[in-house]
Amino acid sequence: MKKESNLKRLLEYAGGYKYLTIASWILSALSALVALLPFVYIWKVIKEVLDVAPNYGDVQDLSHNGWMAVVFAVAAILIYIAALICSHLAAFRVQANMRTKAMRHIVTLPMGFMDGIGSGKVRKIVYESSAATETYLAHQLPDKANALATPVGLIVLLLIFDWRLGLLSLLPVAAAFVIMSVMTGKRMAKKMEEYNNALGQMSNEAVEYVRGISVVKTFGQSVFSFRRFKESIDNYEKWVIAYTKDLRFPMMCYTTLVNGIFAVLVAAALVMTSGGVTNGFLLNLMYYIIITPIITLTLTKIMYASENKLIVADAMSRIDSILEMEPLPETDHPKHPKDNSVELSGVSFRYKDDERNALENISLTIRPGEHVAFVGPSGGGKTTLASIVARFWDVREGSVKIGGVNVKDIPKEELMDTVSFVFQDSKLLKTSILENVRMAKPDASRGEILKALHDAQCDDILEKLPQGVDTVVGAKGVYLSGGEQQRISIARVMLKNAPVLILDEATAFADPDNEAKVQAAFSVLAKGKTVLMIAHRLSTVTGADRIVVIKDGKIEDTGTHGQLKDKDGLYAEMWRQYNKAAKWKVGVSNA
Ligand code: ADP
Ligand code: MG
Repeated sequence: MKKESNLKRLLEYAGGYKYLTIASWILSALSALVALLPFVYIWKVIKEVLDVAPNYGDVQDLSHNGWMAVVFAVAAILIYIAALICSHLAAFRVQANMRTKAMRHIVTLPMGFMDGIGSGKVRKIVYESSAATETYLAHQLPDKANALATPVGLIVLLLIFDWRLGLLSLLPVAAAFVIMSVMTGKRMAKKMEEYNNALGQMSNEAVEYVRGISVVKTFGQSVFSFRRFKESIDNYEKWVIAYTKDLRFPMMCYTTLVNGIFAVLVAAALVMTSGGVTNGFLLNLMYYIIITPIITLTLTKIMYASENKLIVADAMSRIDSILEMEPLPETDHPKHPKDNSVELSGVSFRYKDDERNALENISLTIRPGEHVAFVGPSGGGKTTLASIVARFWDVREGSVKIGGVNVKDIPKEELMDTVSFVFQDSKLLKTSILENVRMAKPDASRGEILKALHDAQCDDILEKLPQGVDTVVGAKGVYLSGGEQQRISIARVMLKNAPVLILDEATAFADPDNEAKVQAAFSVLAKGKTVLMIAHRLSTVTGADRIVVIKDGKIEDTGTHGQLKDKDGLYAEMWRQYNKAAKWKVGVSNA
């Protein structure tokens, strides 16, 4: 039941190519039947030889029958190739359509979704799950039609020549079938899911591990500092060993039975010929010994096909796990922001699986053109607050308004044109710098892009690169530091020129030159715009129009630097600490 619905859904992805899939099954089954014909001709060859023995010169049809065997063998292969061509055309279409559908859906999801699930896992789901269906549709289903047609043809053949031997050679087959269905029953479906979960988790942790490898090296840590990664490997190992042990016995029985058909035949022949051997019996026995390996082959094919069915079922449910995620609701009554103000009223927000609110009853109004800095202890909710303004997530309670309009009522494209986000870890794609910047505004001219890069203080970067602005980022020998990458992503935001800006200030810079340039780029960018800045170093907030101190998801205090630093509160304490650290730094460099 479940299998049918999965297959049906796979074929829906194929669209008009669905008929090619069905054609591939028919051709493949036909090829299986044609492939049996050579065995009939071989039987004829053996029969003739036995009939004329020992006067071998009397043979008449020997070469004709031999050639017929070859002709049908070749025909079977050609028909099979035709079947595979059909199945591949359809399978690639299914794979492409699945990826497109998943990606289209991901685009409609809340922006925060990637953070939650991990990009490694998303890649695995979209890429590998759809690839799993490719093997299934392109190879396993036609092979299954082939494998199913073979026994039908074989049974007919076996029973025609000598029904006793025929039945005997089917006995081990039946036993192997029973064992196989025990092995691949319901329990296996669950196992397969566990297997894929363990594998998925390991791949996810591996991605995190590679990301953090610089930390490991810097601090001379061992692999064991990545406990979760190690745990996921241990977990996988434990699973695989348990699984293998589980299958030890059924697999042993299966292999023995399937390979033992021919032993059964020999034993039976000894019993049946105790009264003397006839030419006809000898002929049939030899024939059965030739033909029984096909049964083995067929069974193995069927077994792999059923195993993969589970992989496909699992792949489909993984794709579904993405497709079932709620997209951000799009408004039916779009409204347009009247100005560049940002207003949060009574906003509470909680991450999906958390127990407590990351933001608690936040109310804050930011005037058009005002520069507001958010400061506070790590984990206080600054990034969350900023993400909510850009509608990476929808709030649980309260409302977020831009230009007097609830962000839920602003069409998605318009919201993206209104709010820009500069992340701490800016991501550049593996394409030229020009194209990387152009992403923000696809119809921008080269001149516009160069101007944006100039304003973002990127001139020195372009000068040192071999092909200037056309240099491909990430190509061989092209290395950009974190600060340089951030300046290029500032150019991107500069080009987009959205009136509301959210800046997540970088926590640390490798060199002061870069820091100064990034700051300069920020100040060009921020001119005339409403700015929400998450500040990690207090030196950059003193000039802000207003400072908002955030702690434990609540607004602890607001005011200008002048007002807050003299007040007995968290900010004054942070300021004292900051100055102490700054003095210490100066002290060290003077020493
Ligand atoms: P800040 O930027 O001030 O350091 P954050 O906004 O990043 O603080 O985090 C606020 C709280 O929300 C923290 O308790 C953090 O653990 C939690 N949090 C942040 N991002 C996520 C997420 N994607 N899923 C679940 N919890 C999160
Ligand atoms: Mg943060």
